[in-house]
Amino acid sequence: MTRVIATPELDHFDPFLLLDEFRSDDPSDYLAGFPNHPHRGFETVTYMLAGSMEHRDNQGNSGLLGPGSVQWMTAGRGIVHSEMPRQEDGLMWGFQLWVNLPAAMKMTTPKYQDIPADEVPEVTLAEGVTARVIAGAIDGVRGPVDGVATEPLYFDVYMQAGADAEFSVPALHNAFVYVYGGRVEVGSDAPMAVASGEIALLAEGQGDAITLTALEDSRLLLVAGKPLREPIARQGPFVMNTTSELEQAFSDYQSGRF
Ligand code: FE
Repeated sequence: MTRVIATPELDHFDPFLLLDEFRSDDPSDYLAGFPNHPHRGFETVTYMLAGSMEHRDNQGNSGLLGPGSVQWMTAGRGIVHSEMPRQEDGLMWGFQLWVNLPAAMKMTTPKYQDIPADEVPEVTLAEGVTARVIAGAIDGVRGPVDGVATEPLYFDVYMQAGADAEFSVPALHNAFVYVYGGRVEVGSDAPMAVASGEIALLAEGQGDAITLTALEDSRLLLVAGKPLREPIARQGPFVMNTTSELEQAFSDYQSGRF
C-alpha cells in the first residue's frame, strides 16, 4: 500500500485528509482486510481498479465493490463497518480517499453512494485521452456521485504517450494529480514531471484549468475539491474540528452510540 496523503510530509490537502493506493497480487497482503472499525466526521471514497471488496456496516448496509466501481460513503455522525476482500487470489488494486466534511455536516446522517462500474461514464477528451467521470463533469458529462459538500471532481484518466489535454477545474478548488502508471507533465508554463506513485498539488487560485501531457502511456487520478478552511482535529478514524469533539467521538464509540 502507498500512502500519498496523510504522511509526515503531507498531513492533508484541504479538503482531502488521506489518499492510499492499494495494489497487491499477494493474498497474504490483503486477505486480512479491514475488520470492524468506526468513522466519524468525514467521507471515505473507495475506487476499485481490480479485485472485489465487500462492505458491511452496523446498520445493516452491505455492498460488493467490483472492478471500476465506487463507494462514496458519508460517515457523518458515525458508522462502524468492515471492508473485506471477496477473492482468494488475484490482483487487488484501488484507492481510498478521505474527504473532509464542513463543521455543520460532521454529525449528519450516514449515507452511501454505491456506484457500479457501468454507471461511471467514460469521456474522450482528445485523441488518446479518456477519462472515467466519477464526480464532477467533463464537457457536460456528469459523474454519478452527487450532493457532496466540497463539490468534488474525481476523474480517472488514461493518456497515450504524447497526448495532451486540458481539464476545467473551479479556480477556488484545491486540485491534485496522482499518477499511478507512466509519467506526465502537469501545467504548461512551468510544467512539472510527475512519475508513477507521485502526486502534484495544485492549490486554489492557479487558474481554472489543468493541462496534462503524457510523457509515456499513463494513468492518473485528477481530483479537486473546495477547501473548507476549518480547524482539523484528527485521530485515527475520527476527524472533527476540536479536541473535545474528538473525545466525544471516542466516548460515543466506546459506549456503543455509533
Ligand atoms: Fe473504513
